[in-house]
Order: sequence, then structure tokens, then C-alpha cells
Amino acid sequence: MTDTTLTNLSNAEVAKYDTSHVFHSWSAQGKLAPLPIKTAHGSTVVDFDGNEYLDLSSQLVFTNLGHQHPRVVEAIKKQADELLTIAPAHANQTRAGAAELILEHAPENMDRVFFTNGGADANENAIRLARQVTGRDKVLSRYRSYHGNTGAAIVATGDWRRQPNEYATGHVHFFGPYLYRSEFWAETEEQECERALQHLDSVIRHEGPTTIAAILLESIPGTAGIMVPPAGYLQGVRELADRYGIVLIADEVMAGFGRAGEWFAFQAQGVTPDLITFAKGVNSGYVPLGGVIISKEIAAAFDERVFPGGLTYSGHPLATAAAVATIETMTDEGVVEHARELGTDVIGPRLRELAEELDVIGEVRGTGVFWAIELVSDAAARTPVAAEYMGRVKAALVARGVIPFTSDNRIHIVPPCTISSEELNRGLDVVAEVLRSEAVS
Ligand code: PLP
Repeated sequence: MTDTTLTNLSNAEVAKYDTSHVFHSWSAQGKLAPLPIKTAHGSTVVDFDGNEYLDLSSQLVFTNLGHQHPRVVEAIKKQADELLTIAPAHANQTRAGAAELILEHAPENMDRVFFTNGGADANENAIRLARQVTGRDKVLSRYRSYHGNTGAAIVATGDWRRQPNEYATGHVHFFGPYLYRSEFWAETEEQECERALQHLDSVIRHEGPTTIAAILLESIPGTAGIMVPPAGYLQGVRELADRYGIVLIADEVMAGFGRAGEWFAFQAQGVTPDLITFAKGVNSGYVPLGGVIISKEIAAAFDERVFPGGLTYSGHPLATAAAVATIETMTDEGVVEHARELGTDVIGPRLRELAEELDVIGEVRGTGVFWAIELVSDAAARTPVAAEYMGRVKAALVARGVIPFTSDNRIHIVPPCTISSEELNRGLDVVAEVLRSEAVS
């Protein structure tokens, strides 16, 4: 079967076709049963048998504008007719336009954008910039974080994906605030914040401040559990970075571009990083794109000196055309404000109500369209539910027409920022039904 234009295949045929030839991410290949998807629109995806599913995952939390937004599709087609590709050394108005629009939403001290193909290489290059300007080597990042799957980015990662990939050196991890599973014996958000900052200060002093190039931080850790930092935490990290001359990198790959109800999640805490990495929501993943937003000071350090980094497809016209159309559409349609309201008016209240009703929900937390439901088999001991239970919950959600994002013992409610309240309520009804009916054994 080599005719990939075939569209009348069944789910079973496509699944077999795929698993016979495609090597999948993060998986034992022999156990895969991928859900075949033929097409999509808005917050809905459609399989090859014609079944529709409400996408509460935004795939890997990237379709912030929903699927197939006509304005972005049109911009990609127009760019394809004019110029499909051009090397990074050339100037091009689409690339410049995307950089200008991204900078419009970033803090004032931000001056330039270096484009990459996705989030991991954005973090690689942010780390490279920090090492170049400080002349230091070490990068501090959180346990319970994800920064990507390339050499340095995967070693900066705080979760299990780091361990089989620990080849790059100079990476040190610390604990961030996470009151529900506090590493600091804290009982309040204030204590957690203060102690997490004391801990970070201590790690910096023990590592030697003059050896540390960067603190790399997801403004809101995403895959690791959507831990919205307590008030004052990001400011505290900013102060430590300033005190010790360390570059502060905000990883906004997942949290940025509307997801947290802000253009950038750190804006809710009023801090200004030195470098910001982005990807995913910048163009809803329609064409792969990421990048680093660079402060005036750091950009100026390379006025005379060569930046030792680059990528063949840096600022690809199709990807940047999609970014221009995405950002303009998000602005014109008030998408960021809509995401914020969905968090305040729909997701937050409904999940808190459900948490009151069901013992299996240990905690709900989030903001905008970026929420986690933490599932526990023993509420008092906060014991995470077993993988087998998560498997059942996930299968039950899909069987009822909802695609969830699950990670460890959590369901993440991360729909497109454009989802309607009606669709969202329907999806949350299904989540509630499934959690009520699946027994934690
Ligand atoms: N940083 C964060 C916070 C992410 O969530 C991800 C991906 O999920 C990455 C970086 C890596 O991005 P990519 O998969 O585009 O390389």
C-alpha cells in the first residue's frame, strides 16, 4: 500500500499501515494502537471511520487556535504560491513580520527573535546564548519539567526522560514550588514559595554562582503537572538571577501564546526574563516553528561578535507565514482573553466542584485553558492512581468521543484556546461521567 492519497481507508487499515512503517516517539513500538485521524476542524478531530472526537488535548498542547483555522490555512497557501523556502541568511518580509508581531507581545526589553524548528532547539539556542554571554557553563532547571528532546534540552529536563539521555554536562536540578507534593514540608503557598526560593539560593551558592550561566524555567511547568507558581516565586527567581549575574530563560513553549490566558504566562507575575523560548502556540503547530526572544542586552553582545549557532530552516517562510496569521487572528478574535475567561468561568469552577464530589481527585490546578486534575487512590496519603487506572480512564474518554491529554496520574484539560463554552462543558461532562464510573481498584 504506497498510495498515500487514498482517503477511503478504514481506521483499522490506517492503524496497520502506520504501525508497519512509522517509528513512534516515546513508545515501545510493538504495543502501539494509534488512533487514526483523517481530518479536523476547530476543537474536533475526525477518524477514518467518520467518528468525531472533542480534542481536550490540543494534540500535544499546541493547537491553540484550533484545527484548520481558515485564515491561517489561507496564509500558508498564499505563502506557498509566493515563496516556499529561502535560506536564513536572506531577508524576507514574512520572517521579519513574524518576529515583529512576536516582539509586540513580549516585554519591552525584548529586541530580536532567533527562529528554530521547535521547542527543544529553541532551548538549546537559549542555553547557547546564555553560555556565550556569561562565559559560564552550568544550567539550572527544575525537577518536574520538560524542555525538549535534544542533547542539552533533554538533560535540562527534570523528569524520567532525562535519565536515559544524560550525555550533556553542566546541568543541575532543583525543586520548584509544588505545594500538593511539597519537598519543603510547607503547608501554605507562602511557605512553599519562600522555602523554594531559599532552596534555589542554596543550590546556586553550593554550585558556585560564577559557574552558572542560566536558570531555565517553564513559567508554568506543563507536562510535569501544570504547577502554577505561587505569587512572588518568579520575582524571587528573577532577583536571584540578578544577584548572581545569571541569565533567566523563561520556557514558554507550552505555556505561551494564550494557553495560560496571557500572551506569555510569566506576564501574570509581572517579571521580565532575559530570554524567552517559544514554539507550539506561536502558529498552532500548523508548520513546525519555535524560537528564542532575545533581550536588547544579550542581542547587543553579538553586534560585533559572531553568534555560533544556526539552523537550515531558521525562519522558514511557511512557518512564519502561519505565525503572522495566527497572531493576527488571536488578536482580532480576542483569543487570549477568551482563554482566560474559560479558565475563570468554566474550567476552574467545574473542576473544583468535581473535586469536592469525588475522592479520586486529589487536586485541581491551572489557569486559562491549562489545567491538571491529579488523581489519587488514597486522598489522605495522596497516592497517585495506578497506570492501569489511567489506561482505563483514557480508553473510556476516547470511547465517549473525548481526546484527553494524560500524563502520569493526571488528566490535563488543555483544549484549544478557541473552544466554545458549550463544547468545553460537554467535554467536562464526559470527564465527570468517566471519573464517576471508573472504580479505583
Ligand atoms: N519546552 C516545553 C515546556 C515543552 O512542553 C516542550 C514540548 O512539549 C518542549 C520544550 C519541546 O518542544 P518540541 O517538542 O517542539 O521540541
